[in-house]
Amino acid sequence: PPWVPFLALFLGLIAALAYSIYLQGFLGVLWSFPAMFLSHFILPPRQARPLSVLLLLTVSVSSYVSLGPFVTLRVVLSLGFVLLMIHVVLQVLGELQRAMVAQAITDPLTGSYNRRHLQTQLDRLAAPGDSAQRPGPALLAIDVDHFKAINDKHGHDAGDRVLQQLVAQIKARQRLGDLLFRTGGEEFMLLLPRTRPADAVRLAEDLRRRIETTELLPGARVTVSIGVSGLLPSTPIADWLKSADRALYAAKQGGRNRVEPALE
Ligand code: GH3
Ligand code: MG
Ligand code: MG
Repeated sequence: PPWVPFLALFLGLIAALAYSIYLQGFLGVLWSFPAMFLSHFILPPRQARPLSVLLLLTVSVSSYVSLGPFVTLRVVLSLGFVLLMIHVVLQVLGELQRAMVAQAITDPLTGSYNRRHLQTQLDRLAAPGDSAQRPGPALLAIDVDHFKAINDKHGHDAGDRVLQQLVAQIKARQRLGDLLFRTGGEEFMLLLPRTRPADAVRLAEDLRRRIETTELLPGARVTVSIGVSGLLPSTPIADWLKSADRALYAAKQGGRNRVEPALE
């Protein structure tokens, strides 16, 4: 890991600190404060925590030996307080970061994942060393039929609501581990890990029927066409997406409100 040199550096630093306290007394103690920050802002928490305990112990012992109990008590208390503040700051930063990552991968209208996150997930599947799933993953390309007409007839806001309702329906049906992405205006991809093509087709058919029979918008009939494609071990990921899209196109050509499996 990239932090190993820092770990070595930091262990050296702790030794130097002990020596410096031995040589210079309290002037040496002063360096323990920036050292405490350094460990937490350079190393991952798992490494930084035990190291800061080691730092605290080393400084306490050296300080006790050279400066006696009263100075040591103050040093330990103030270092402990610094440690607490570091913890609070890192906690807040961590929460901010998690919130920003969540925003970066979420589609604001529907709450499904966005295209960027699909790419991340596909890259993960394509990464060498990723133990191949068995059975492989399957992909559903879902597109609302004649959505332009729904917009034209009921207005853009109603169209937006249809998309939200559609996502709610898909989410209600999808299994744990399935991931839904909005890849375009009224286009979605549902990534199904470890799913046999026949099961993916069954799920797609379920979804299609569910949407056909649910009134997503009062007075409007909303249907979807779905292309289904399973990932074969030999297929490049980019071709997999294209094959799901081709199947979707075939479903549209075949009259819409249909599920079409990809030709293998
Ligand atoms: P098809 O059955 O062939 O898929 O026809 P379609 O009308 O659904 O497809 P087309 O691609 O022609 O039209 C998609 C429409 O989706 C056009 C665009 O105005 C609309 N759209 C795209 N994004 C949004 C959105 O965020 N909200 C709303 N309300 N409409 C959107
Ligand atoms: Mg459409
Ligand atoms: Mg479309």
